[in-house]
Amino acid sequence: MRHTSYIEISRQAYGKNMDFLKSDIGPKTEISVVVKGNAYGHGIENIVALAEENEIKHFSTFSADEALRVHEASKSNSEVMVMGMLENEDLEEIIRKGISFYVFEFDRLKEAINVAKKIQIKAKIHVEVETGFHRTGFEWEEKEALLEILKENAEQLSLKGLCTHYAGAESISNYVRVRKQIKQYKKFKQWFDAQNIFFEKYHTACSAATLLYPETKMDLVRIGIASYGFWPTQETYMYRFQSLAENNKNPLRRLISWKSSIMNTKSVKMGEFIGYGSSYMAPRNMEIALVPIGYGHGYSRWLSNQGKVLISGKIVPVTGTVTMNSIAVDITDLEQVQKGDEVVIIGVQGDHEITVASFGESSQQVNYELLTRLPLDIPRRIVD
Ligand SMILES: *Cc1c(COP(=O)(O)O)cnc(C)c1O
Repeated sequence: MRHTSYIEISRQAYGKNMDFLKSDIGPKTEISVVVKGNAYGHGIENIVALAEENEIKHFSTFSADEALRVHEASKSNSEVMVMGMLENEDLEEIIRKGISFYVFEFDRLKEAINVAKKIQIKAKIHVEVETGFHRTGFEWEEKEALLEILKENAEQLSLKGLCTHYAGAESISNYVRVRKQIKQYKKFKQWFDAQNIFFEKYHTACSAATLLYPETKMDLVRIGIASYGFWPTQETYMYRFQSLAENNKNPLRRLISWKSSIMNTKSVKMGEFIGYGSSYMAPRNMEIALVPIGYGHGYSRWLSNQGKVLISGKIVPVTGTVTMNSIAVDITDLEQVQKGDEVVIIGVQGDHEITVASFGESSQQVNYELLTRLPLDIPRRIVD
């Protein structure tokens, strides 16, 4: 093992998540799998392969580089949609490859029309409208100017979607705000309808909206976190708990496991300090194991004296500070532990499991953050 740790992605868990999501979402709505943030840390190429095995043919990315990776990885000519960053100078390649993209301001829209004219290929656009997220999206006041451009350049444009994004559908505290957004989106849709401008797909929902506000599902849903086996929040899960089938109360399964191995073991005398500084003094004669993962690998410094890993099927605590490349863990109570033994950072060993959510409890990191901070260069492989 040249790398200090590796990640496994479970094909079986992914299949289960997809089965649940498909049946929950129903046959009328297409699923776009969101693969931004290197597919939430799982690896874009891994997830494109698994999703296509599950008949998914639509992917959403944040940026152009991610979209091109999906395009390369796709074996079934799936649709790719860029929801965020795209430089004007990349528009030509994106349009040539048939990748669709959000437009939320006039500069990108006009440049897309120019490029489409020049290369004689329609630009596939999704018009994003502002409904209350206040980050991107055309304002209500801009709709006439927008309409004029869409009508005048109908030859250059393929109107793939009318879309928006909700500001916190995963928490009931945002209920009023989300309701207002749904209303505002409908207002936009009706207005475009009245002007005889129709879009191929109407789409607004992320995982939380899909699970909690069924009316937001429409023609297409953009599913990220749930497809990776996580409820957007604990609240989302509690809200849906009653409505889950009696024999399937836990339908979303984690796909990711993160593993390393022991680099070194050492005896430390009572009263000695472990690692940098003085945050941990050995309260007894101890055995410690060094594990070669640190904050440089996405294991947060917040986990100093807090984190837990699994060795020999037992839960053991991190002692001292998390450094750039390693942690020390307390193996005093374990028998026959040696260099090279498996260490589970996320996943199951014996009867125990370290979940992704447990990191949130000790370091304030939400699932999304921990996952997307896993470095690109940790080897990832699909297991059955
Ligand atoms: C990230 C994102 C999603 C997916 O969100 P999840 O909560 O992971 O399902 C959907 N739409 C947009 C615009 C996004 O940026």
